[in-house]
Amino acid sequence: MAEKKKKSPARCRRCGRYGGVITMFKINYCRHCFRAVARKLGFKKYN
Ligand SMILES: [Zn+2]
Repeated sequence: MAEKKKKSPARCRRCGRYGGVITMFKINYCRHCFRAVARKLGFKKYN
């Protein structure tokens, strides 16, 4: 993992898709996976 690009596209760390990935919490989950993971993280009211 030594390679670091200047602009790495936000990629979902769970399903690997590139579109609509949330990075605001440094979690890098897409919207779909975020809803599933958010419950574990405590974001119950997140849409
Ligand atoms: Zn995902």
